[in-house]
Amino acid sequence: MTANLYPKSTSFGYVTKKMKSFYDAIKLNKMTKHSTRMALAGNPNAGKTTLFNQLTGARQHVGNYPGITVDHKEGFFSHDSKDISITDLPGTYSLTAYSVEEVVTRDFLTSQKPDVVINIVDASNIERNLYLTTQFLEMGVPLVIALNMMDVAKDRGIEVRHEKLSELLGIPVLPIIARSGEGCDELISKAIEIAESDFSWQPRDISYGEDLDESLLEIVREIQGKPFLEADYPPRFTAIKYLEHDDEMIRKGQVADSGLADKLEKIVSKVSDHLQKTTEAYPEAIIADHRYGFIKSIVRQGVLAHKFDTDRLYTSDKIDKVLTNRLLGPVIMLAILFGLYQFTFSWSELPVSWMEGLFGWFGGVVEATLPDGMLKSMIISGVIDGVGGVLGFVPLIMFMFFGIAVLEDSGYLARVAFMMDRVFHLFGLHGSSVMPFIVSGGIAGGCAVPGVMATRTLRSPKERMATLLTVPFMNCGAKVPVLVLLIGAFFAEHKALYMFLFTILAWFVALVAAKFLRMTVLRGEATPFVMELPPYRFPTLRGLFIHTWERTWQYIKKAGTVILGISILLWALMTFPGLPQTSQDQFETARAQVTANFSQQPDLLKTELIRISQEQSAATLKNSIAGKIGSFFEPASSLAGFDWRTNIAMLGGFAAKEVIISTLGTVYSMGEVDAEDAGSLGDRLVKDPNWNRVVAVSALIFIMFYAPCFVTVVCIAKESSWNWAFFSMAFNTIFAFLGAVAVFQIGSLF
Ligand code: GDP
Ligand code: MG
Repeated sequence: MTANLYPKSTSFGYVTKKMKSFYDAIKLNKMTKHSTRMALAGNPNAGKTTLFNQLTGARQHVGNYPGITVDHKEGFFSHDSKDISITDLPGTYSLTAYSVEEVVTRDFLTSQKPDVVINIVDASNIERNLYLTTQFLEMGVPLVIALNMMDVAKDRGIEVRHEKLSELLGIPVLPIIARSGEGCDELISKAIEIAESDFSWQPRDISYGEDLDESLLEIVREIQGKPFLEADYPPRFTAIKYLEHDDEMIRKGQVADSGLADKLEKIVSKVSDHLQKTTEAYPEAIIADHRYGFIKSIVRQGVLAHKFDTDRLYTSDKIDKVLTNRLLGPVIMLAILFGLYQFTFSWSELPVSWMEGLFGWFGGVVEATLPDGMLKSMIISGVIDGVGGVLGFVPLIMFMFFGIAVLEDSGYLARVAFMMDRVFHLFGLHGSSVMPFIVSGGIAGGCAVPGVMATRTLRSPKERMATLLTVPFMNCGAKVPVLVLLIGAFFAEHKALYMFLFTILAWFVALVAAKFLRMTVLRGEATPFVMELPPYRFPTLRGLFIHTWERTWQYIKKAGTVILGISILLWALMTFPGLPQTSQDQFETARAQVTANFSQQPDLLKTELIRISQEQSAATLKNSIAGKIGSFFEPASSLAGFDWRTNIAMLGGFAAKEVIISTLGTVYSMGEVDAEDAGSLGDRLVKDPNWNRVVAVSALIFIMFYAPCFVTVVCIAKESSWNWAFFSMAFNTIFAFLGAVAVFQIGSLF
């Protein structure tokens, strides 16, 4: 940072002279040797100067430097026979370079690296003051909070529980009255303790919502390991400042590595555009919202108690009084969840049937136009019945995503997380685990891959591991069509109810599994939780449509690429090597025989011929590679009620869960000959003797809980290790299988 001592050019050109003398002053200080160097920082009027005078008293011999209007003093004193130098930094509300004071404060911290920063917080105005604190936390400086003006707070009937605040923030908080000197000795003792401890201060991560968190990770990935500003700031801090359009940081970035800086600026403008389109807000505003949310949630967890109600209630707080009420809140939450499913199923029923009709018609056209053979079989069984089965649910997925977008954009999802915290704690998980669960499909239709990545906001490695291993239990977007198919086929009268019940079951199982992990392989302390509560926003229609479409498009794209590829591969596995010549001849002989026998009765002849063709396709399937694998597992899988055909689908599901649908589509269409009266896949399953309600529930249990899909497994490995990734596959599959067997065995008794 020596380059910074005399910045040649800054975006604050007009203060260059002032800043130069300021840096001269700092240089002076650096040359004077003192055992402990402290810095006082805080909002204007928080009481920095009062504390500074209180501490340095008569021994204060360095006043304001000439030529600096930016408030800056330093003094010396001793405490417990230790020499201490202390700097009174200019008052600021933030650490983003929007003003001279902010730049000066930030540069002082990085260039001088004081042994400890005393952050003065005005106890009578705590929420506003903690805004700056969040940024010190993100910067990872050694920090002690001096909770000043305790007398003022008391007079106003505000009780601040400093132990609770300290516990939630994870840093010492000492109450003081700077004017009378009360508590100052304890404060300095603590500050010395922190300054001398060799505890390594880690920056604390605050979540800024899905969109920004993703960009933050992207930027951090770019700058990690490169010398890009890293000596001065933690990578995430730099990333946040980039998103806040911090001119000073952007300028420094350009000086350090202009190629990389351009890249980062591109990431920033991409997410800015996106946020503009979806929420009509700039990243700065969203970041500020989340910081206040973070603070509000800390304060709400028992830090502040008002003896008399002097505070005005803001609209968001008023709404929260009802929506996050201890008793009413959870009831409303469940009602909203149920309402979402009801809405999704009832509104999508008609368009889903149109899609089915469309693919049926399409199959009919191919049937009529293409000559019999491999190509026709591949297009009908592999592509149309496979991918078509997945695409058929697009309208439903769209309605569901729309509903979720409403919950998300309005800020309600954050409340869900807030309420779930209490429940999560009981199961050894952390409040920050809730969002990864929701992202993974906690309500329906997410994805475990971003869910697994979202666990990065968890600071305790064991809580993170437990979360990472259980998020794949949620009903991700790939499982939804499978659930919808089976629920639609076997529980058609109560679709929304069953969807609701299976969602609750997913949470319950995930939590129990987490508890199990936390009691065995991942045993350890629970850490306190701070959940951000951003203010409620009225969703914009444009934002809702964009969010809905983005996710729906992801679903369609995956169906058209990955799922298409796997479907064709599985079709091939289900087709080859084909029947041996001898048994093909047998079927030919049988055909010749019935043709001769029923030549006088054309109707009967047709039925008989279809029966023979069906038997032949079934025999071909059974003799195929996939068929053999499916049959190999049948002795075990029959304990859970799955026949060899279902096994093929489940095996396909290891690649991606949508493949279960496309494979069932292929498996059950290959046994069929007459495409026209075949009906939908759901109808075929209902008619199949090997399927019934008990099998459907058992299959759903297995599908919901067995090994995560391939991409998720790779992601788990990347976030932890391959050992854990394999553990997750084995643990989940065994667990799911035992569950399915239990359901089938018990269910079959009735
Ligand atoms: P700075 O801007 O952070 O340097 O704040 P000052 O030290 O100038 O203090 C602002 C005002 O708050 C002054 O009028 C102080 O006398 C007053 N003040 C500071 N600490 C306390 C305190 O603990 N109790 C009370 N009642 N007033 C205080
Ligand atoms: Mg002052």
